[in-house]
Amino acid sequence: MDEAATAALRKRVAIVTGAARGIGRAIALELGRRGCHVAFNYRASRDAADRLAGELAALGVECAAAQMDVADFAAAEAMVRDVADRFGRIDYLVNNAGIVRDHFILRMSERDWDEVLDTNLKGAFNFSKAVAPVMMKARFGAILNISSVSGVTGNIGQANYAASKAGLAGLTKTLARELAGRNVTVNALAFGLIDTEMTQGLPEEIKAKILQNIPLGRAGTAEEAARVAAFLLSDDARYITGQVVQADGGMAM
Ligand code: NDP
Repeated sequence: MDEAATAALRKRVAIVTGAARGIGRAIALELGRRGCHVAFNYRASRDAADRLAGELAALGVECAAAQMDVADFAAAEAMVRDVADRFGRIDYLVNNAGIVRDHFILRMSERDWDEVLDTNLKGAFNFSKAVAPVMMKARFGAILNISSVSGVTGNIGQANYAASKAGLAGLTKTLARELAGRNVTVNALAFGLIDTEMTQGLPEEIKAKILQNIPLGRAGTAEEAARVAAFLLSDDARYITGQVVQADGGMAM
């Protein structure tokens, strides 16, 4: 890790949603390595969350963990209040928590739709709304919404997921306009295929088909994904706002 990158995030405070596993965990650790204090939440994976908290502590940064559902408006407000009270500032928000409930539209239930939209899109609204006043008052902040190329191109079996991720693009661009005057940036980061538990369960033939459409010929790692996220939060990216940045091995272009 180069000195400049480390210095830039030192002593800042981030909230990362859905960080017990996968990309969120990698982002939390990448920020921790750069000296950033990290508050994170998760829904059910208590052991994994405890492990992450231990790893963050070993990096010498402070950490706070909350078990909650990002779709719960009041719980999001409460977590943001707790983090602001404890750390005295919130510099970064990464809306990462996300789920899939894939089915063709004919088989997609109302529940499949609601759960995905509530977690992936309403969760991001809940946390963005809660942190906005804190960041506006400080005249500094960066919000990063973790999106997907499914939201850019659409994807068979993912009407709910693609709609939630496309919705994040609209949320991102609107908040970027609303918060820019207070020096708060808002971007989305759309991944292609990243190797996590979310994608490890995909049938091999589907994975092979996706890989055929990735010019770089491989899935990304959670660590690669995290480094792009850290860049978009860093001071090197302060002039970037309102963008949906794709990190997808060239999958959607
Ligand atoms: P994982 O399934 O590996 O991890 C998801 C994390 O989100 C878990 O820690 C989970 O908590 C948490 N989470 C899920 N629902 C909630 C909720 N309601 N409240 C709080 N936390 C919740 O997924 P990935 O790491 O792969 O995905 C992370 C993000 O990246 C998602 O937004 C996903 O859509 C996006 N993405 C992923 C891609 C990929 O190829 N992997 C590609 C494009 C985008 P718990 O462990 O407790 O269940």
